[in-house]
Amino acid sequence: MKIGEIMTPNVISVTEDTPLREVAQVLDRHRVSGLPVVDGDEHIIGVVSEYDLIAKPNARTAGEAMTHDVISVMEDTSVDEVRFLLVNRKIKRVPVIRGTRLVGIVSRADLVREIAFTWVCQVCGDTERGRNPPDQCPKCGTPSGFEPTVTPPVGEGSDVPSRTCPTCGQELPI
Ligand SMILES: [Zn+2]
Repeated sequence: MKIGEIMTPNVISVTEDTPLREVAQVLDRHRVSGLPVVDGDEHIIGVVSEYDLIAKPNARTAGEAMTHDVISVMEDTSVDEVRFLLVNRKIKRVPVIRGTRLVGIVSRADLVREIAFTWVCQVCGDTERGRNPPDQCPKCGTPSGFEPTVTPPVGEGSDVPSRTCPTCGQELPI
């Protein structure tokens, strides 16, 4: 699955000269813990988080408080790669860009939702989203062949294990 399918699109962003008080108000109002900082062309130049606000009491604007080294991903980056990033870099969110423009953000909460509401057909590997698994696979027609998304452990040097189809032995996408 690609990150573009689970990201939060139309993300709220601020500019370098946004006063920190306003940043704090946006964070509070939207109950998010960080915001991308963009220039006039929607190019992402930093991220300002609640941590920055607390840790840098003398900063006056988003530009002064923001973290410059922003890791961003593309819409077609896999969910697994992003999960790996969030865990290994100990970050809470990653901006999603198309070309050089900011198009969304993906947070730990988005990944948690993906785990909670995504079901994988054990026969054809089709993924469906919903509170409950579908009664029948819309792709291969197998009745009740759906199981929760298998989330392989992320760790030092651990490769993502592959899974095989119980019927034909083919590798299933995770
Ligand atoms: Zn199926």
